[in-house]
Amino acid sequence: MQGLFKLNDKLGKRLVLILKNYPCSWGRCSFCPFHLEQSTNTWDIITFNRRIIREALRIVETEEYERIAVFNGGSFSELPYDTVNELVPLAKNRVFEIESRSNFITEDFIRNLLRLLEPKKLVVRIGFEVADQYIREKLLRKGMPDSEIKRILWIKHRIREEGLPVEFWVYVLFGIEYIPEEKVIESIKYFKKLFDGVIAIKYKKYLPEHPEEKTASSALARFLEEEADLVDWGGEEWEIKKRNNEKNSK
Ligand code: SF4
Repeated sequence: MQGLFKLNDKLGKRLVLILKNYPCSWGRCSFCPFHLEQSTNTWDIITFNRRIIREALRIVETEEYERIAVFNGGSFSELPYDTVNELVPLAKNRVFEIESRSNFITEDFIRNLLRLLEPKKLVVRIGFEVADQYIREKLLRKGMPDSEIKRILWIKHRIREEGLPVEFWVYVLFGIEYIPEEKVIESIKYFKKLFDGVIAIKYKKYLPEHPEEKTASSALARFLEEEADLVDWGGEEWEIKKRNNEKNSK
């Protein structure tokens, strides 16, 4: 699913870059498929990402995009410096979204990113996935205990005091056997109170050893659509990919 995608959803019109990265240094989450697309070849990562970023830069020359999201199946700080540097003109004066494991986030990390990228606003998405610590740590194996939630809240508080343009958003996972629907609902309510935004993500099983998928009830679907800032059902129309496929088939 790596590539460049134009989306227009609850968050508005935005350009999403899904970049290549090294395997996530944690790499232990029980449901994670991202290693399937990652690489250990630095040149492969750098050239792939340059191509995507330069195509994005060409698009923003002619089309207005206020919001840019960069995902890499892991943490922004694990991208090669070459990739981060290439992103500077894309991030400047725009709402710039990244994702990260909580352990990479410190006040200095945030300040340095703001200095380097100069975004209008930086949005940091964190995959806490569920409010229940037992499920998060023992079943999902996230390696992000409740103490990390508290630490990020403290950083958020400090950053706010300085008036820096940063928001912290949380992913909540649903449609997975380990998280009953009442725990999904509890998580959305809990993280909404604490953070700036909550994105519900539908789990998809990619490997036989991964947990089972569960169909979301219509009650849960309704709740998520009303309460989450965005619901990612995993079936969006990936416009550029589609366009490229069409081109290739001509
Ligand atoms: S932190 Fe994210 S990328 Fe890393 S193993 Fe867990 S789900 Fe996968």
